[in-house]
Amino acid sequence: MGLDDDAREYHRQEPPGKIEIETTKPTNTQRDLSLAYSPGVAAPCRDIAADPESVFEYTAKGNLVAVVSNGSAVLGLGDIGAAASKPVMEGKGVLFKRFADIDVFDIELDIDSVDPFCEAVKAMEPTFGGINLEDIKAPECFKIEERLREEMDVPVFHDDQHGTAIISGAALMNAVDISDKDLSELEIVFSGAGASAIATARFYVSLGARKENITMCDSSGIITEERVKAGEVNEYKSQFASPVEGGDLADAMEGADVFVGLSVGGIVSQEMVRSMAADPIIFAMANPDPEITYEDAKAARDDTVIMATGRSDYPNMVNNVLGFPFLFRGALDVRATEINEEMKAAAAEALADLARKDVPDAVVKAYGDDPLQFGPDYVIPKPLDPRVLFEVAPRVAEAAMESGSARAEIDLEQYRERLEA
Ligand code: NAP
Ligand code: MG
Repeated sequence: MGLDDDAREYHRQEPPGKIEIETTKPTNTQRDLSLAYSPGVAAPCRDIAADPESVFEYTAKGNLVAVVSNGSAVLGLGDIGAAASKPVMEGKGVLFKRFADIDVFDIELDIDSVDPFCEAVKAMEPTFGGINLEDIKAPECFKIEERLREEMDVPVFHDDQHGTAIISGAALMNAVDISDKDLSELEIVFSGAGASAIATARFYVSLGARKENITMCDSSGIITEERVKAGEVNEYKSQFASPVEGGDLADAMEGADVFVGLSVGGIVSQEMVRSMAADPIIFAMANPDPEITYEDAKAARDDTVIMATGRSDYPNMVNNVLGFPFLFRGALDVRATEINEEMKAAAAEALADLARKDVPDAVVKAYGDDPLQFGPDYVIPKPLDPRVLFEVAPRVAEAAMESGSARAEIDLEQYRERLEA
């Protein structure tokens, strides 16, 4: 109860909520006001009407992201509706600001079905430099993101899908290296076939894993071609159907190199871990309780288990805050029209590279006794590592320029220095 009451108090404190708007230009004199508003404001308006790109010079659009939700799949709370999701969306805004100095309007839409939701978001395009979709349930979230990406000219990014994909993807690249495995030969088992699992499986394939080596389980067991034929699974799950007869998660895990848990806590036993291949990689990311605890997974076997969870009290915390602030930072700073596969891969590679560098003392101190040296218990950087901003954002910007999604070219060396300052 302590935390609950503290959180209520934190939110209630005057002014209520966590966000306010500040002005960035002088507003002291009559002249200031006639520049900020009528009649002076007409000049930039006319310029934007004549040259739409100049909106980035005259307004805050280029640093403004919409965090948009309908509250249909909020954290561990489920479908609590748009209004009840507002503290979460304000909180997301706080993270954007704190980690990447990006401003956010949180937008809670009381709309459940795909088409009107897309219409509403699309109509907001003139306002924002980017759209972060948040806590929208599967499978609607796939359709909504697909359609908005196609129809909008600013980045549209559903963080619940791609955040986990990118950060655990960085962890996977390093884990594979440490355990001397080959990404293209990994047998990978997913527990969960929802928003985060589908996107993560797709991302691993784009990093070099083979789709036919992925076995995906939902709450009814392995997703098989048989179940697809029987019409039991949606079109997103069916992309990962296996040609096996059937079976449950325990069957799927036998001999697997990698376990990716994006389902529910406590469903993996030590015996299941023992049935995996040598030096297994286990990303048990259900929140707040992982599919198996760090201690149980480590104690299950004598060889090296590389373990990650979503928790801050164990090594290798897969936390979305390592991703979205810096992806959007890089994307906004080159006025990208999208966040594409190349940009996501660049973010994952930058995170993986950063984990191999020496960790500054200040970061080590912030995390107590953890050794923080590249190895099984440190395959991804820590969320509070200030280097993530200037290591990741420039790589994303670079990938945007190289892949043709950037509308502005920037000097990467200068950009990095500016972020580092
Ligand atoms: P979601 O879209 O609701 O998907 C949940 C999936 O889990 C569904 O496919 C569901 O099966 C499956 N499932 C439920 N019980 C299961 C069981 N006993 N065995 C196997 N699969 C089971 O949720 P999500 O947004 O992807 O999130 C899933 C979990 O991952 C949550 O615990 C979330 O907190 C966690 N997560 C963690 C991070 C992180 O650590 N950074 C990031 C994202 C998500 P059906 O399809 O049959 O219902
Ligand atoms: Mg979320």
